[in-house]
Amino acid sequence: MKEVKSPKKPLLYYYGIVLFVLFLFNVIVSPLLLQGQVVEVDYGTFLDMIEEQNIGQVQIDDSQITFTDKENTAIYKTGTMNDPGLTERLWHSGAKFSKDIEKTMSPFLSIFLTVFLPLLIFVGLGQYMSKKLIEQAGGKNAMSFGMGKSNAKVYVQSTEGIHFSDVAGEDEAKESLAEIVDYLHNPEKYTAAGASMPKGVLLVGPPGTGKTMLAKAVAGEANVPFFSMSGSEFVEMFVGMGASKVRDLFKQAKEKAPCIVFIDEIDAIGKKRDGQLGGNDEREQTLNQLLTEMDGFEGNNGVIILAATNRPESLDPALTRPGRFDRRVPVELPDLKGREAILKVHARKIKAAEDVDFHTIARMASGASGAELANIINEAALRAVRNGRVTVNQADLEESIEVVIAGYQKKNALLSDTEKKVVAYHEIGHAMVAALQTNSAPVQKITIIPRTSGALGYTMQVEQADKNLLTKGEIENKIATFTGGRAAEEIAFGEITTGASNDIEQATKLARAMITRYGMSDDFDMVAMETVNNQYLGGDSSLVCSAETQKEIDRQVVALVKAQHEKAKHILSENRAKLDELATFLYEKETITGDEFMEILNQKGGETA
Ligand code: ADP
Ligand code: ZN
Repeated sequence: MKEVKSPKKPLLYYYGIVLFVLFLFNVIVSPLLLQGQVVEVDYGTFLDMIEEQNIGQVQIDDSQITFTDKENTAIYKTGTMNDPGLTERLWHSGAKFSKDIEKTMSPFLSIFLTVFLPLLIFVGLGQYMSKKLIEQAGGKNAMSFGMGKSNAKVYVQSTEGIHFSDVAGEDEAKESLAEIVDYLHNPEKYTAAGASMPKGVLLVGPPGTGKTMLAKAVAGEANVPFFSMSGSEFVEMFVGMGASKVRDLFKQAKEKAPCIVFIDEIDAIGKKRDGQLGGNDEREQTLNQLLTEMDGFEGNNGVIILAATNRPESLDPALTRPGRFDRRVPVELPDLKGREAILKVHARKIKAAEDVDFHTIARMASGASGAELANIINEAALRAVRNGRVTVNQADLEESIEVVIAGYQKKNALLSDTEKKVVAYHEIGHAMVAALQTNSAPVQKITIIPRTSGALGYTMQVEQADKNLLTKGEIENKIATFTGGRAAEEIAFGEITTGASNDIEQATKLARAMITRYGMSDDFDMVAMETVNNQYLGGDSSLVCSAETQKEIDRQVVALVKAQHEKAKHILSENRAKLDELATFLYEKETITGDEFMEILNQKGGETA
């Protein structure tokens, strides 16, 4: 046992807990429990029981008499009466006079309640805590505790009745998976043609796009058992456990075939084995076991393995080669139509008002994943409840998009008056640069109410339709729009603030990508200077070029952003009057819609002339 790190808390601490629990039971809990046993009776009953010599103990107070029957099965209470000779009669009936009857309940019960129950609870607690300790100690040292069989409870067999119709959008993925459903329904058709199903299907895509849901839906449609486990669970705490869990999982699955085995986050075990010193033995053993199991069963035995990952590039090639996970189904972020469909699926759970327009909401939530859209619907419903309604309206949904994107409104805004003015100019700067460049998306909403995310204000832009291709000009316009906030500050106040840090980051990212990845610079032609490591998780990239080239890239990035910044400043000083007018309007109203913005922007002449 000594391998386990000794608990940080001294022994005294645990004795303290024991005493406290005992105390709690004696003083608070057991009287409460016992009180439930007290029976109120009328005085007549009391007299009858004296007559029948059926009084065990009795206690006479000023206003009430408490007594028990001979067997001590219950406590009775009754009021006092002017009854001379009562004491005498009680004495003759053989009753015992005592104090504190309520605590002298049936000795069995009271001992159980005050001693055994707390002890039981304490032992339970102790076991729970020692489990925790083992988990903390982790690794090899903990092995002596709990080897033996891996617990099979992790393989939950439930399809929860999810069907393809519950998964909105993702039509390509569904089509690809429908074949597997068909196979599970009538495998003979496939064996007759000599075709065998892929053993493994890899669902690849960003988090929250419905990969788990799709796997469940396959099981639901085919009406077969569904075993699910997360890759990280395999490599949890005991060395050698991962492999045995894999073995266990497949043993169960084969017994239940046809069935679906779903492994979430397969990258946790399926990472490339790179022969590094001090590599993770445990993980490799688990992976090897998985590969062995997959090779071990024939294509047509009815066990189909679905696995999900959002970092496909990090998977071991052994896992993705033919005969293993040889089919790859991309599950991408939903497009405009998909977003609308997902919103509608989740809106089935709520009561939507007449004015709700899911198309607009889908447009506003560009880039949101299925999980985020589900969250938006839920936030909207919560907002409706907060406002004392049961129906969810358009305003709820619009506000909840902002909550999901930018966090809650900060109620006690700490913006000073000048700061508020600066933020108003900054946001109008973004919006005007966006609107005045012909190709930029229109503005949906501008607000200068601070958010819990730290944003002091923001401009929500909306694409009319999903864009799959961006032209060079369009990216340049985006960069100009990012610089528009700072440009407005410069023009209006001749001073710059820290408020543009996020804009700077975004603009730089775009400019760098243009040069290193999209081949949009003058002299690098179509040579990639960067590779993307992780397209689904933030898209980090690493440079692949010489030091000189890096220098040149940096120079070009700066030049590119600078040019767009100049363009933004030019646009805004050309329209200085509108800038002032709109900024003042926003400063006063704090939130303005895209329509209000466009109306003022498009008014000819203007009052400021
Ligand atoms: P993943 O496994 O890709 O990370 P999940 O399948 O766990 O994502 O999805 C999380 C939640 O997001 C689901 O429970 C569901 O409510 C919602 N969701 C995601 N994609 C969709 C979709 N295409 N249709 C409907 N709901 C979706
Ligand atoms: Zn900004």
